[in-house]
Amino acid sequence: MAKYVVITGGVVSSLGKGIATASIGLLLKTQGLSVNPLKFDPYINVDPGTMNPYQHGEVFVTEDGAETDLDLGHYERFLDINLSKENNVTAGQIYLSVIEKEREGIFLGGTIQVVPHITNEIKERVRKIANEHDVVLVEIGGTVGDIESLPFLEAMRQLRLEEGRDNVLYIHLTLVPFIKSANEFKTKPTQHSVNELRRIGIQPDIILCRTERPLPKEAKDKIALFCNVSKESVIEGIDTNNIYKIPLIFKEQRLDWLICQYLSLKRKESGLKTWQAWLDFVNRLENPQKEVRIAIVGKYTSLRDAYKSVIEAINHACGYLSIRPNIKWIEATDLEEEVKKKGKEVLKDYFSDITGIIVPGGFGVRGIEGKISAIEYARENNIPFLGLCVGLQCAVIEFSRNVLGLKDAHSQEFAPNAKHPVIHLLESQREIKKKGGTMRLGAYPCLLKEDTIAFKAYQVKKIYERHRHRYEVNNKYLELLEKNGMVISGIYEKENLVEIIELKDHPFFVATQFHPEFKSRPLRPHPLFLAFLKACL
Ligand code: GLN
Repeated sequence: MAKYVVITGGVVSSLGKGIATASIGLLLKTQGLSVNPLKFDPYINVDPGTMNPYQHGEVFVTEDGAETDLDLGHYERFLDINLSKENNVTAGQIYLSVIEKEREGIFLGGTIQVVPHITNEIKERVRKIANEHDVVLVEIGGTVGDIESLPFLEAMRQLRLEEGRDNVLYIHLTLVPFIKSANEFKTKPTQHSVNELRRIGIQPDIILCRTERPLPKEAKDKIALFCNVSKESVIEGIDTNNIYKIPLIFKEQRLDWLICQYLSLKRKESGLKTWQAWLDFVNRLENPQKEVRIAIVGKYTSLRDAYKSVIEAINHACGYLSIRPNIKWIEATDLEEEVKKKGKEVLKDYFSDITGIIVPGGFGVRGIEGKISAIEYARENNIPFLGLCVGLQCAVIEFSRNVLGLKDAHSQEFAPNAKHPVIHLLESQREIKKKGGTMRLGAYPCLLKEDTIAFKAYQVKKIYERHRHRYEVNNKYLELLEKNGMVISGIYEKENLVEIIELKDHPFFVATQFHPEFKSRPLRPHPLFLAFLKACL
């Protein structure tokens, strides 16, 4: 029978609850336990797929094509497992399913209420993923005290009542601020946040304290006393610039032992090897031998969360190679404006100190010309280039305009009436009217051509990579593109769609229609990111 660990957050948002949950997952995994994580998002959207990156950050795509919260990315990376649509549930999905059941007549005669109908549905989603696992980790999005998260917390309260005290553990993550003028840590916000939880009927068992400097014993003791937990259950989560160190910080304070004690979980030795590999990875990340300077040209660069998986994929490959990634963020709209104003000469100012350029995914026309200029610079100056999704589409547009001489080549997304729609909508996409969950989503097989950079990187003929886009390369232009030096190194055979392109006379110019970043893991860096960074070196 599975045990449940429920993780809530208090005081403020953005404390790193997702990473804390993922770290707890890793700690349990390295005890030899099998862990399945679940993120509840209390918003009414069915999924984050239609949200602006500024609202939500990255949309993480699973193998089965679910558009999910970026915390699922942390879970997959820390636990090295593939998750599915069942691992991220929003309030919107819960309500939708209850209302559909009501329409079907399943509750015939009853009045449908938050308690018990909504809370039952929430518990059902938790139990559904328990299967053969030892532990289900349940992260409740938002902050305790939010109106939206109330039904989720209430459901988690009921869970312990139904599953038994020994089978459900509550962990609460809070902020313990240090007030410089008073030279003091303040535990009051934590006390209030725990009070708020208790009002709902949840007494946390363990408190994780996010803090910018080491917590003195007195502060910990005070939290223990006021929040009604044992002293050893107050765990410090000190700020670190390396998220992969967080499991180490928790383990030093015996958090894994504590959880196993509370839940009477018996450790199995089988996870020790993973832990050793994790320590080696962290060690290599902390002791880089060289540095590379990577430019990321995107349009949400002021919000780094929008590119979470790309950044982490770079980190994994850099950890593997013992190099320090120095990332220069370039806002594509600024670049576009500058080139318009001052001409292409200005590109040198942006890229002369750069060892590699990445153009990550994106939607909408804003900044597109900036991305295309960056790609032109990479192509002409032999700078390693990696294009991801829209990055591939821009690379095809650039090549068509500047090498094939098709001056008004464009994507139908940005210029619906372009004379040369080198990127276009397939018939199947044209018919779609609804926006949510209707892109090409999730893992598709891709066949690689031998003797290409891609094949050398992957070393296999068939790969599976995750997609999230509507537009595709227009096959009408393939022959012309290939004749002029573009190599189509990967295709989705069934529908004859271009998946990877590269250039012949260039040290490393590779772009993918899929998002390789979603499948990179700390202990298994993605082959294309690895090849790109090797080229940068
Ligand atoms: N906007 C492009 C499309 O929909 C690319 C999407 C992306 O980069 N993820 O096809």
